Amino acid sequence: MKKIIFATGNEHKAEEVRAIFGDLNIELITLNDLENPPEIIEDGSSFEENSLKKAQTVFNRYKMPVLADDSGLEVEQLNGAPGIYSARYSGEEGNYKKNNEKLLADLSELPEPHKARFVCVVSYIDGDNVYTSEGELRGEIIEEYRGDNGFGYDPLFKPEGYSKTLAEISPDEKNRISHRARAFEKMKRKLGLESL
Ligand code: IMP
Repeated sequence: MKKIIFATGNEHKAEEVRAIFGDLNIELITLNDLENPPEIIEDGSSFEENSLKKAQTVFNRYKMPVLADDSGLEVEQLNGAPGIYSARYSGEEGNYKKNNEKLLADLSELPEPHKARFVCVVSYIDGDNVYTSEGELRGEIIEEYRGDNGFGYDPLFKPEGYSKTLAEISPDEKNRISHRARAFEKMKRKLGLESL
């Protein structure tokens, strides 16, 4: 079975990507399965730069095929913020509650709808090839928390055409429409991995 490292320590993301790759004969391992994973400093100025940097850093350490993603939320009225800073919008890496509170505070004086999009850029590096692909999901930020599924900004994000938030729909449904699903599905095709 082909082994690919997914360069993340975020088990929510890993679960989503395992489901997207579930129909393929591929074992996806994460940084949590590896000893001494390298420190990755996300100092790029775009999702693409950051995802390439994650993939390259992890490839350099293990010399195995690597997939890495960088993702985030862009809100129109906030000129694209939090963007590449989505994970540490409130200053604390990975504190979803504080990030959501800051987002609602920043939008509190602005009229609805708060149009937004999620973006995900995936990179793949195996020593011979470098590929990137992008996916987006358009929608809006609502001013109340709804639902318990998913992670991050999901309880505040209502996809276009939906009455539910990403945290109210099932994981399967999120995996059909999400920015991450779209980027990884494109990557599957680039890698010649589409299921028959
Ligand atoms: P990354 O790990 O650098 O890609 O950071 C991504 C950050 O963007 C996460 O910590 C979340 O705050 C946000 N984010 C990315 N994808 C999603 C998603 O599918 N749902 C909710 N929040 C997301």
